[in-house]
Amino acid sequence: MPSRSTGSLELMKEMNRGLILNAIRQRGPLSRVDIAKQTALHASTVTRIVADLIEEGMVREQGAGENHIGRKPILLDLVADARFFAGLSIEAGSITGVITNLNAEIKARYEKPLDGVTKEDIIRQAKEAVDQLFADIGSQRAKVTSLGVAAHGIVDSVHGHILHAPAFGWRRLELGDALREAYGLPVKVENNCNAMAMGQYWFGNSPGTHNLLALKVGVGVGSGLIVNGSLFWGEDFSAGEIGHTMVAFDGPRCRCGKYGCLESVSSIAALLEQARERMKRGLPTVMMDAVQGDINTLQFSHLCEAAKAGDELALNVFREAGSYLGLAIANAINIINPSRVLVGGDVFDGLPYILPTIKQVVASRSMEIPGRNVRIESVRFGRDAVVMGAVVLVMRDVFYWDEQQLA
Ligand SMILES: [Zn+2]
Repeated sequence: MPSRSTGSLELMKEMNRGLILNAIRQRGPLSRVDIAKQTALHASTVTRIVADLIEEGMVREQGAGENHIGRKPILLDLVADARFFAGLSIEAGSITGVITNLNAEIKARYEKPLDGVTKEDIIRQAKEAVDQLFADIGSQRAKVTSLGVAAHGIVDSVHGHILHAPAFGWRRLELGDALREAYGLPVKVENNCNAMAMGQYWFGNSPGTHNLLALKVGVGVGSGLIVNGSLFWGEDFSAGEIGHTMVAFDGPRCRCGKYGCLESVSSIAALLEQARERMKRGLPTVMMDAVQGDINTLQFSHLCEAAKAGDELALNVFREAGSYLGLAIANAINIINPSRVLVGGDVFDGLPYILPTIKQVVASRSMEIPGRNVRIESVRFGRDAVVMGAVVLVMRDVFYWDEQQLA
């Protein structure tokens, strides 16, 4: 990985360049005067760096020379296609990849179920995904400057190692090194929930807000935390395991071996289990027709369709999961006081039936001040929220990302 320039003059140049690019990214199109105001840089510094950026093709002038009285300032905007980024999301059952430009517009997409989960299988399938993505964009491959990976498990994101992947049954894979060697690109690896949180923070956070909680609900339940503008990793990179906080004292046994964890009552498996159990008891539901009487074939999509049709059994299952999620979120809100809570993951299509309950429970169970202003919403980018987060892990570097820039 190329290291940051260490000479103080070079470093300052790089930071100023990042400041200017970030100002245009967030508030553009902007005039040179506006950029100087926003960044508190000297006008001559802005002019010089902007000239470089235009020459590199990163920034372009627009809206100049219109026929008004007085001269309209020339506005500057990012050239979205100037740089491409590759992102991978390695989940417990599938691998997804995208190539995007600076505006998160997807240029190529890849998705496949995993066909093996050994360490070698994971590296092989990650490379297959990248190879296919690169093949899809052809000659534009040269624009891809870096690769971000969002992975299941506990990830040492400083070194790019997966430390523990419980769903795959192994420990320690130096995935970042393997991909760096294969493609000669800078690679960053991060836990999938953390990547999702970073993606949500980068695209769509209001300036001036720096604390965010992103929940990923699917086969498992996890979260990523942005605290004071940075990912919060904890001492062992395992922070954010909200799925294994206890919400039901006498609840069912969880995959982790303990009882009453949030995951055991609100994961997709738990939702399906609740629905099946009620169907077995003979409670009325349209889902019985959908599965043609075979309860074992019940899928999450059946549950969503039934809820959409107003099926009480399906709606109750969602409400119950929502109340447990709301409880865990209320507790988290009291601890970290976030401005936003985003919910995503495979549960995405069911969120219209879960979010209202979450909001209700949060309103009644969190403390007044942190509970009053927090916005609880579904994630941006829907089912792609994690892979877009993987892209953001590396996209930030173009802007010399530093959380203090937004303070
Ligand atoms: Zn657990």
